[in-house]
Amino acid sequence: MRAAVTEAPGAMRVTDVPEAGEPGDGEVLVRPEAVGLCGSDFHYFLGHLGDAVGTDLYPRVQGHEFAGALEAVGPGCPAGLRIGERVAVWPVTACGHCYPCRIGRRNVCSNISLVGIHRDGALQERVRVPADQVFPVGELDAPAAALIEPVSIAIRAVVRARLETGEQAVVLGAGPVGQAIATAALDRGASVLLVDRVASRVERGKAVGAELLTLGADDDLVAAGREWSGTEGPEVVFEATGVPELVQTAVRLVSQAGRVLVVGLSAQDAPLRVGDLAFREIDVLGVSCCNGDEFAEAASLVARRREALAGLVTHEFSLAETPMAIDYAIRHPAEVMKAMIRLEGA
Ligand SMILES: [Zn+2]
Ligand SMILES: [Zn+2]
Repeated sequence: MRAAVTEAPGAMRVTDVPEAGEPGDGEVLVRPEAVGLCGSDFHYFLGHLGDAVGTDLYPRVQGHEFAGALEAVGPGCPAGLRIGERVAVWPVTACGHCYPCRIGRRNVCSNISLVGIHRDGALQERVRVPADQVFPVGELDAPAAALIEPVSIAIRAVVRARLETGEQAVVLGAGPVGQAIATAALDRGASVLLVDRVASRVERGKAVGAELLTLGADDDLVAAGREWSGTEGPEVVFEATGVPELVQTAVRLVSQAGRVLVVGLSAQDAPLRVGDLAFREIDVLGVSCCNGDEFAEAASLVARRREALAGLVTHEFSLAETPMAIDYAIRHPAEVMKAMIRLEGA
């Protein structure tokens, strides 16, 4: 079968690989139909993840945001999975016995294995995954169903933020995850200001219903955010850009007793004024992947807001075009919101 294999940093090739084979105990075989490419794929592809995810990074078939058709169900799987139905895949395999697992936070399992990162993912014609990680999506089309995974990060973010109806949230970064956070926050009844420096990205926030701010080179983000929220500052600030200095900005912008959610990835340091955390009692909380119930909530949100969210998919490519697609998406961040690989009929 065909697969897009990342062979070394910056080197991806579409080639023949051995068949995925029959599903084992508790496994299913999925035929991927749509696979989204995201910022963490770009980091992996470029070799920027380093020791954050382990040492045996290459070769690897990437692809962790996907939907596909169930082709086969192995022995010992939960009843009710139907051959041929479309599913989205929660990419988290957790050990079940480490500290995070014991307290119900399998998304940050100390021994985590993520589909498309620690094990081969969906940029191939068939992939085996644990049956308890597949979620039937009903009538949802494949590209929309492939958005459930990035939207699940947003669900995790608003859950971690304890975001409530009537609260104000500023979202820094109007990429796909920022847009998804805005959507999830509005769905919870919060008011949302979506901020970015790239006007074309901010404009897309119209479709999800957020208030918008395009930041000019000389604009003061803290002043602009306070002007929107009132003098106390917003209760919650989501950092979804991965620009380290913006964590400092978020801490300065947020209200006393507020919450700062760090969603963007970066390997850089960002110094904080420690007294801000103590004196103003700011919670700074990280967000990674999500738990199974949050993935199910994301599936529901995508189904309810499919039209607004479908607009995030700006580019589609075939499996054969994947190496070009990832290169193009990395080079054109203002133009490419979400690039989707389509494998239908592959
Ligand atoms: Zn992703
Ligand atoms: Zn664990």
